[in-house]
Amino acid sequence: MANEKTPVEKTPVTLLGLGAMGAALGRTWLDAGHPLTVWNRTPGKTDALAAYGAEVADSAAEAVAASRLVIVCLLDDASVGEALADADLTGKDLVNLTTGTPAEARERARWAEERGARFLDGGIMAIPPMIGVPESGGYIFYSGPRALFDEHRATLAVPTGTSYAGEGPGHASLQDVALLSAMTGMTGGILHAFALVRGEEDIAPKEFAPLLSGWLTAMALAVDQTAAQLESGDYTEGVVSNLAMMTAGNATLLRTAEEQGVSTELIAPFTDLMAARLAEGGHDGESVTGIVDMLRHK
Ligand code: NDP
Repeated sequence: MANEKTPVEKTPVTLLGLGAMGAALGRTWLDAGHPLTVWNRTPGKTDALAAYGAEVADSAAEAVAASRLVIVCLLDDASVGEALADADLTGKDLVNLTTGTPAEARERARWAEERGARFLDGGIMAIPPMIGVPESGGYIFYSGPRALFDEHRATLAVPTGTSYAGEGPGHASLQDVALLSAMTGMTGGILHAFALVRGEEDIAPKEFAPLLSGWLTAMALAVDQTAAQLESGDYTEGVVSNLAMMTAGNATLLRTAEEQGVSTELIAPFTDLMAARLAEGGHDGESVTGIVDMLRHK
């Protein structure tokens, strides 16, 4: 019987996929003392973890047979189906950290359950150097049965933080992709800003960079107001920069781009939507939150 002198047995883990992300994940479970069985389609990539004590399986099916908890971190959803085609998933707890769409996650959950496995889907909000570095702020969204997440939470928390996204299997992927989509828009804005000042000899990119990151950090607080307005349904709540004023200001943004010889293709789709929202009438005093509704109705 376990007592305080008996070391707690660490849950054995099987990991399929030792790309950049899988290799980083696997190392942390070994460091934490979990028995680890690994498989990778290209065999040589298992050498580094084998040197740290991982068992190397010759096939995905053999790796799956080695542990109840099976983590999959492959390129895309199609590679998951391919790799697990011959594996017996009966009684397994399958955790899929492969990036995919919410619909792919829901379908993969159904597929896994039909094969006798319990299933969690994960969305990784970290890059490999953040894995095993708690202060990096990285984490993984998980969705699927709460009890299953709770059962494996300690093991799942070894590589990076955990965030439970809900019972619906598509929720982890949806929140992952929503955050990545926000980053995509932000990156587009950053590139447009650099393009505007590029070519001005007395505005060095390295001097402009802290102005840009400081401004974006300050403006990021607007997400709380957007959330509050979406919940109350009142898009004028707390507005200090209204749609009519911002739409007028957009003309300056577009003319400045022209003056600087910079294409407006990254910002024009958004300024067009703001103009269209204003043209609907009755929204002058609102924020831009109404564009959420416009996007959903398109
Ligand atoms: P890599 O390209 O480094 O590795 C891809 C892995 O998938 C390799 O193990 C590769 O095997 C395997 N693979 C590809 N196709 C198949 C297939 N048909 N059958 C079996 N195995 C296959 O990618 P990462 O490790 O960086 O990414 C893995 C997952 O993690 C992706 O879904 C990615 O979106 C996600 N992710 C990655 C991040 C990153 O910054 N790297 C950040 C957040 C999420 P082989 O070695 O044989 O090619």
